[in-house]
Amino acid sequence: MSDDDFVLPPPPRASVAVAGAARRFPVRRVYCVGQNYAAHAREMGGDPDRAPPFFFSKPADAVVESGATLPYLPRTADLHHEIELVVALRSGGADIAREAALEHVFGYAAGVDLTRRDLQAEARKLGRPWDFAKGFDHSAPIGAIRPASSSGHPRRGRIRLAVNGETRQDADLAEMIWSAPEIIAILSGFVRLEAGDLIFTGTPAGVGPIRPGDRVAGEIEGVGSVELAIA
Ligand code: MN
Repeated sequence: MSDDDFVLPPPPRASVAVAGAARRFPVRRVYCVGQNYAAHAREMGGDPDRAPPFFFSKPADAVVESGATLPYLPRTADLHHEIELVVALRSGGADIAREAALEHVFGYAAGVDLTRRDLQAEARKLGRPWDFAKGFDHSAPIGAIRPASSSGHPRRGRIRLAVNGETRQDADLAEMIWSAPEIIAILSGFVRLEAGDLIFTGTPAGVGPIRPGDRVAGEIEGVGSVELAIA
């Protein structure tokens, strides 16, 4: 189909930069894992006992290029940072076996799961959906994707985030409760995964507020970095 087949110009396709390449990664869907580091599960009042992981999602067009300056986001007084390893899929399927899961990975990036913590706390208390606490405009800043074909699949490595140069989150990917292949296997049992899907794999402890004027810098060893500023 061409643009002329639509009653309006089709919306632009969300995409993410690929490290060392001119061409970009097209985004289909954005999935996220909740509480995948024990110390963060505890700080959120959870119990890190390898209970099955739970998932939520963000719209594809919530993706923001690393380096962007964002407005302070509306309807919140408690905007939080969550640095996360992001998995980018080159192919998909349903009920993918854990042993075959990494074949579907295009690469990895550092991303920030921006969260309106006050809206999330209210939703948790009232048993309401998290959509507007997690899936709002500009809620998914993400750095360039590093292809697994050149850099492999990270199983360990320092993951950290600083606000205005002060370290807030500092952990290791090896502390993830559920690994990337386990997450892909379990998530693909709930939804069919496809090329272009991104999966935020959860954040370590140390989440906290970011305020107008703050500069946020995240880095994952062997994967890449992500930066954003709040106007
Ligand atoms: Mn998160």
